This record gives sequence, C-alpha cells and structure tokens, in this order.
Amino acid sequence: MKVSIIGTGYVGLVTGACLAERGQDVTCVDIDPERVAALNRAESPIYEEGLDDLLRAHVGSTLRATTDLEGAVLDSDMTFIAVGTPFDGQTIDLTAVLAASRQIGAALAKKASFHVVVVKSTVVPGSTDGPVRAALEDASGKRAGQDFGLAMNPEFLSEGEAVHDFLFPDRLVLGGIDARSIATLEGLYESFADVPRLRTNTRTAEMIKYASNALLATLVSFSNELANLGATLGDIDTIEVMRGVHLSQYFRGRNAEGLPPITAFLAAGCGFGGSCLPKDVSALVAQGKQVGNSMSLLDSVIQLNSQQPRRTVALLRKHWSSLVGVKVAVLGLSFKPGTSDVRESPAFPIIRELVQEAAIVTAFDPVAVSEARRHLPDSRVRYCDSLDAALADVDAVIVVTPWPQFADLPARLNGGSRPVVLVDGRRAFDKASVNIYEGIGL
Ligand code: NAD
Repeated sequence: MKVSIIGTGYVGLVTGACLAERGQDVTCVDIDPERVAALNRAESPIYEEGLDDLLRAHVGSTLRATTDLEGAVLDSDMTFIAVGTPFDGQTIDLTAVLAASRQIGAALAKKASFHVVVVKSTVVPGSTDGPVRAALEDASGKRAGQDFGLAMNPEFLSEGEAVHDFLFPDRLVLGGIDARSIATLEGLYESFADVPRLRTNTRTAEMIKYASNALLATLVSFSNELANLGATLGDIDTIEVMRGVHLSQYFRGRNAEGLPPITAFLAAGCGFGGSCLPKDVSALVAQGKQVGNSMSLLDSVIQLNSQQPRRTVALLRKHWSSLVGVKVAVLGLSFKPGTSDVRESPAFPIIRELVQEAAIVTAFDPVAVSEARRHLPDSRVRYCDSLDAALADVDAVIVVTPWPQFADLPARLNGGSRPVVLVDGRRAFDKASVNIYEGIGL
C-alpha cells in the first residue's frame, strides 16, 4: 500500500520507518526542510533505538521524505496525520492538525481515486469526526464516507522504545467513520497478524488513547497521594506499601480472557459497595484530614461513587420525564454476586431515589432479599421471592448485581407482551440483546 505521513516527529517518523519495514511504500511529509533533507540522507533527527537501521535499510527505496504534501497525497492511497497536538493551557491546540487537514483536503480535490485519511495524532474525542472532517470536506468539496474515507488510529508507542513498540504493538485500535475506512486500516496492518485489535468508531478510538494515558497518570498520583500521607504519619515506606499492593492476585495471573484480573475493576457501572471499599477509603480520607494531609484523589473517588446510583436512575428519564407510577424492578440487592451482604450496595440509593420519585418498585435478589428487607424496611418497596414476581407487569428493570441467575433476562424481556427498558447497571448484557437497552457510559 502507498502511504503518506504528515509530520515526521516521534510518531510520524517511527510510523513511516516501521511501515516501510513491514513492506509498505511510504512518503513522509514535514514543513521543516532541514528535517526532510536529513531524512533523505537516512539521518534521523531524533534518537530512537533501531530507527537509524530502518532509515538506512529503506530510504532510497520504499521510504522518502518531502515538503510537498500535495504530491505525497496524490501519489498515495492513504494519509496519516501525525503532527503535534499540544495543550495550550485552555484546550487542545488543533492548529497543526487542521492546517494539515486543509492541505490534504485541497489535494483530495484534485484526486479521482478513493483515499483514506487517518488521524494518528492524539486528539480529544469528537475531533476526527468534527473539525478534522469539516476541514477535509471544506477544502476538498467532497464528502467523507462517500468520496473519501476517514479513520482514527491512536498510537501507543513510548519514546525510548518507539520502534519496538510500533513493530510489536500490544493492540491495534482501528476507528473509522464507516466499514470501508476501517477495512483500509485492516489492510495496512495485515502483517501484524497476532496483535489484538479493536474495531470501533473514531470517537471511541480517540477516547481509548486518553483513557489509557489518564489511567497511568491517575495511578502515579494515587501512589503519590498515599506516599504523602505515609510520610506525614511516619514509619511507613511507600515502596513497601506498593510492593504489598503489587503482590495482590488482581495484578498477577490471567483471567479467562488472558487479561490481569485487575481489569474487572476497570469497568463502569452503578458504583462500588460492600463492607470494605466504601468504609476503608472514607477512613483513610478522614485520617488524612486529621493530620492535615488532604486526600483529594480519594475524596473524589468517594464523591464520584456516590453519584453513580443517581446517574443510573437518570437513564430512565430518557424514556419517562416523570417516574410517577412507572413500574421498576430492581434486580440484585447484594453489593456483588455470590454474597448476601447488602452493606453499601448501590441498590439502596437507587431504590430510595425511585421511591422518592413515586415509581412503583419491586426488588429481587437470589439470596439477599431478607437482608435487604432488614436494611431498608419500606412498605413502598415490594421485595419479591422470585424473579418472575419481580418482573410481572414492569415497565423497566434496573440490574444492580450481575447474578448468573439473571442470564436469561434479555430472553424474558424480549418475550414479554410489551416493551421493557433494561437499565444495565453493570454493563453485564450485550446492548443488542434487548429491544430497549440503557447502560452507564453508552
Ligand atoms: P513532534 O512535535 O515530535 O512532531 C510533529 C512534526 O510535525 C514536526 O516535525 C513538525 O515540523 C511537523 N508538522 C507540523 N505541522 C505540519 C504540517 N502542517 N505539515 C507537515 N508537517 C507538520 O510530535 P510527536 O511527538 O511525534 O507527536 C505527534 C502526535 O502523536 C501528537 O498528537 C502526540 O500527542 C501523539 N503521540 C505522541 C507520542 C510520543 O511519545 N511522542 C506517543 C503517542 C502519541
């Protein structure tokens, strides 16, 4: 495939050299003529292990550099945008991305054959399908999805190991505005046969990049917040603390999908509960306050968790402006499957809010009904002894605890005589499994 790449920084140049290594014909474009001249002498403007070897192997045959963006676009099948996207103190600065997009669009105006434009720069969700698409369409007079393809393919390489990371990636995220754009990316990455890949839309692809970096940043700040409290309290070495955390089974081994078990906690939903997480996080935040060491990250963890039940109920309001008289079944009352412990279960704030809004509430759990009745004795809640009883004549179902006993819920709801809204508080069901599906983060 003939590929042009706009921007020859860490990402653009490494992408170009590695794609040439994988058999593609690559033209790198930059506005910096000195950089371009150096590249054409097979001299790398940046140090990355293995990059010089790739340039020496491919410059002069399947890899070249130019300042002529239009020529590079006209003579290729797809164009990557890999220019910088700094944060200007207020917002992401898309100046370089949009300048490149307009230039690519102007070239597309002169091109008859189908071309795919791929954003590789890190851009905030909505950028590719928003301003980038608009700049390309304005400058070309053509329509994305009809006259040319548009994709988003975030880069996860890490400086210092960039060539290795690109040639042996942990994942490929292929975001596109349509199947044809994604298929073109698939073709480009055909030789990366065993790499796990995720095909999605451009916004989700953009968000995956930010989610990955935001998580890493959060983990560092989490460690620092605990280290700061430890230092204030005294006689605590954060290295030993973190070593004790690292040894947790959640970070070791693999689950059925081949992923570390900690990934079970990287899942959005109606919030955490139980006898430990809420009280332990709150106790640590309180101790921090007592010794003058505020714990802003963990404080936010509690605040966010307390909002999730409300956000879950809010999903019903997409279907009813008022919940008065709406019949809602709350399924799962224990804080997680496999236990009758209902302490701090998000089921209760959800039920309380429903009752307050004058919804008609039934509630069921395979083992925790009597615990729940003791925990929240309220005559306005009809605790049921069977799933059938809880589901009889309902308008909506909120799943709080993903018990295996609820596995056939979609079939039950689809087989009913009238449409029922399923609010999946744990994203446990396939969104296509029922007629009306709502879930946190969808
Ligand atoms: P960089 O600043 O090293 O390189 C950008 C290059 O683009 C420069 O050589 C510049 O001259 C060129 N350029 C700017 N405008 C141009 C235009 N209109 N036409 C042609 N060339 C133009 O940037 P980078 O570190 O490679 O990052 C690029 C993008 O990739 C950013 O969005 C960044 O967030 C993302 N990213 C970076 C890394 C990393 O480790 N550096 C990793 C993953 C993703």
